[in-house]
Amino acid sequence: MTSNSHLDWPFLEPRHKALAIELDRWAVRDLPGEPQAHTVSAVDDACRKLVCQLGEAGWLKYAVGGAAYGGSSDTIDTRAVCLIRETLARHSGLADFAFAMQGLGSGAISNFGTHEQKRQYLPRVTCGSAIAAFAISEPQAGSDVAALQCSAIKDGGSYVIHGEKTWISNGGIADFYIVFARTGEEPGAKGISAFIVDANTPGLEIAERIEVMAPHPLARLVFHECRIPAAQRVGDPGQGFKIAMSTLDIFRSSVAAAALGFARRALEEALRRSTSRKMFGQTLADFQLTQAKLARMATDIDSSALLTYRAAWLKDMGQPVTVEAAMAKMTATETAQQAIDSAVQIFGALGVVSEQVVERLYREIRPLRIYEGATEVQQLIIARGIIKAHQTSEGHRG
Ligand SMILES: Cc1cc2nc3c(=O)[nH]c(=O)nc-3n(C[C@H](O)[C@H](O)[C@H](O)COP(=O)(O)OP(=O)(O)OC[C@H]3O[C@@H](n4cnc5c(N)ncnc54)[C@H](O)[C@@H]3O)c2cc1C
Repeated sequence: MTSNSHLDWPFLEPRHKALAIELDRWAVRDLPGEPQAHTVSAVDDACRKLVCQLGEAGWLKYAVGGAAYGGSSDTIDTRAVCLIRETLARHSGLADFAFAMQGLGSGAISNFGTHEQKRQYLPRVTCGSAIAAFAISEPQAGSDVAALQCSAIKDGGSYVIHGEKTWISNGGIADFYIVFARTGEEPGAKGISAFIVDANTPGLEIAERIEVMAPHPLARLVFHECRIPAAQRVGDPGQGFKIAMSTLDIFRSSVAAAALGFARRALEEALRRSTSRKMFGQTLADFQLTQAKLARMATDIDSSALLTYRAAWLKDMGQPVTVEAAMAKMTATETAQQAIDSAVQIFGALGVVSEQVVERLYREIRPLRIYEGATEVQQLIIARGIIKAHQTSEGHRG
């Protein structure tokens, strides 16, 4: 098995294989290493540069839908997005982050925006001259996202946004935020709308920069009576939750793909180290206990890849994908965590040295089990989906 053999699987088309191979070559040649200094400004600079670089090289056109607006095709090619994230994650967590956020942060516009919104934002997202962000989480509304309290009150031709968002990736460097706020058409999930808020809008404040174990730009935002034109609303009033969930249906599979990229890199590193490390008169890889670890890693990687590309293929075929994307995200992120932990173990003390590849992967993988729906939330989505399917088929029989 080579690490590229999955490119021949029937879920993928020849253009996907060509894309992954070309990107891999580009990443080897052109991607900078991860920033050594983890200060907020060093990480911000590195991230801005990566967005420009990915835009100039043409990769960001796969992050948006709409060929007329710079996208690679009219609808987002989920398999391409997954292959790009998997490949970038194998090389650089920050490059994967920069690519993913351009897509997640503009997905509402790609899928639900007006012609004018697409014209104004998408070309800049694809060339890397505008950085996008997706702002839904709040201090009191994370997993229970329908409990969000940030409000948007209609006032003539404007909306006035008031409240707080936290854990916002690209917070502090984004040029615009897709903000989900309560417009009150109905209680709960049906009373939320989506808005595009430019970063320089008066009343929007970056209240706090948050430093995390795998450094990337992250912030808490505060909206003080922040007035935006009503034309900045994306989709209909009350449609925000649906917009958020359908954006996540695309990008959730891509979180699985990123986890897959991290796990593949961990396996490559573990194979290299275990076959060269001499001990007890042989190599570490000659021991069956090591072989068991390597076998588990390789099998989990293939299982995750099958689930990930099945979900991406179904999405591209226009099929419902909520359960399959949840299965992919849960399995790929959980097993990547175990695979990376095994790689660290195989490296011994060297595995916990700062900035060793496996040490970096160990930090990179952890948040993926929490964001875009924690593993427990994915379990609930899967269970709800299969119980509903069971009840429907029982109903048909009865
Ligand atoms: C690095 C990072 C980047 C992020 N980027 C963004 C972003 O760009 N935009 C954005 O809007 N948000 C972002 N988030 C926020 C993320 O989506 C939330 O952290 C996530 O939804 C979980 O919410 P919470 O942290 O409030 O945890 P809580 O909702 O408090 O949940 C805590 C834990 O409870 C468990 N849990 C949850 N539900 C259940 C249940 N029903 N039963 C049992 N256990 C349960 C899970 O283990 C979960 O981790 C980011 C988070 C991180 C860590």
